[in-house]
Amino acid sequence: MGSTAPHVALLASPGMGHLIPMLELGHRLASTFSLRVTVFVVTTDASTAQSQINQEYSTYKKVISIVLLEQLDLSSLMDWPTAMLSQIVLIMRHSLRYLRSAISSMEIRLTALIVDVFGVDAFAVADEFKMLRYVLVTTNAWYLALITYLPFIDCKNEDDHVRLHQPFNIPGCESVRFEDTISAFYNRDDQTLFNDYKRTGIELGRAHGLLVNTWESLEPKTLRALRDPKTMGRFLESSRIFPIGPVVRPSQPAKQDVPRNKVLEWLDQQPAESVLYVSFGSGGTLSADQLTELAWGLEQSSHRFVWVVRPPTKDSASGSFFRLSKKTDKTPEYLPDGFVTRTQDKGLVVPTWAPQTEVLAHLSVGGFLSHCGWNSILESILNGVPMIAWPLYAEQKMNATMLAEQLGVTVKPEKLPSSGIIRRDEIEAMVRRVMEKDGNEGKQMRIRAHDLKRTADEALREGGSSHYMLSQMARECECGLEKLDEVRGGLD
Ligand code: UDP
Repeated sequence: MGSTAPHVALLASPGMGHLIPMLELGHRLASTFSLRVTVFVVTTDASTAQSQINQEYSTYKKVISIVLLEQLDLSSLMDWPTAMLSQIVLIMRHSLRYLRSAISSMEIRLTALIVDVFGVDAFAVADEFKMLRYVLVTTNAWYLALITYLPFIDCKNEDDHVRLHQPFNIPGCESVRFEDTISAFYNRDDQTLFNDYKRTGIELGRAHGLLVNTWESLEPKTLRALRDPKTMGRFLESSRIFPIGPVVRPSQPAKQDVPRNKVLEWLDQQPAESVLYVSFGSGGTLSADQLTELAWGLEQSSHRFVWVVRPPTKDSASGSFFRLSKKTDKTPEYLPDGFVTRTQDKGLVVPTWAPQTEVLAHLSVGGFLSHCGWNSILESILNGVPMIAWPLYAEQKMNATMLAEQLGVTVKPEKLPSSGIIRRDEIEAMVRRVMEKDGNEGKQMRIRAHDLKRTADEALREGGSSHYMLSQMARECECGLEKLDEVRGGLD
């Protein structure tokens, strides 16, 4: 890689769900398109981020530079907001001074800055350094359409949605049902959150390009609307849409000199497609009552499982029933007494974190009970694994609906977790629907998941739609801001 190669900066916001796709994109730009790449990482826990990068991305450092920006002292931040989105936006805003000084101290000229949807304030820095402005949308095109439309909604549409719980209509796209809506609508009193969403929507329209972690054949209707000047395209006049996905971390092959992870070792002993993997992403947690019901549901189903479990968010009345002092085995204090012993032949409880991409790629895994974070969904699809949807926050309820109703690769509970506890019998039934070999439903979902995987593989191969889109974007980065019009004129 010559030192004169054009150099691109990526800015990742806190959280593994944001860092992983940024690192993957950076790696792809550098390894496939010969750009030089620096990924700047904003983190609230530098030592964990550093050790995760060292453990899982050490080989990437041969191809891209990864720079952890100075860690903010969160206690120094005034007016700490309640919503997670606003918290991340605030952290990103305060980190800009570190980004600015890191870029100033670099001797090369950066041609483009790629941020995620939480980092659009950094466009000011891109402007100062005359860089192209891109956003990596780490979710899907439907959610992008929703945020883009939010600053422009008419009062009636908003009122019908927020007060009368009517679907939220997005021009040219599927509507969003109230039960699937985002927190900005059901917490409409939180002005900071609503304003953060709106500002993000406006800034998206200022980007030179929006890189979306989807592919043409997965969301054709929404992508068409985002490009159509008569519908959503009118809010994105100067932003080009680049569906470049799926961008996911590939599963790592086993290495001889590294001891095999315990979870993978356990999976090695299980029959093909027999294990349900249960995980709620990098930060999802359940209440004590819900954890109890999930434990019983898994046990009652009699199916094999790997469960990445975290302590409950808050102790509820029945949660206090399970105290450490009452435990008779190694079951964590917040799970039903004796759970680990009773399920020891069938299940594995893993505290906090598992090597998810390797787990989903394992032949023993036949289903995924997921909180429906977009990265998890893509990782599941890329391995042809059908899902049980358990959406918790952010755009996950929209994702769950898309998976169940448009893509047909997921079963969904009758009522979403946000509207009450999902009981053990329903959980047991959902597990059986996905996992049972003689059941037609699970079989059909598995076939559809494999079909989707094939379309994803096609999009990614050389000449495929996502590969082509990324090559166009890389070409723009090579030429820089001054030549953007020329390049775009030539490309169309
Ligand atoms: N992840 C993992 N192990 C875990 C939990 C999560 O490797 O135990 C990874 C997962 O593979 C995915 C990311 O963390 O790449 C989570 O992203 P997602 O968008 O699914 O959810 P988020 O955590 O952002 O809500």
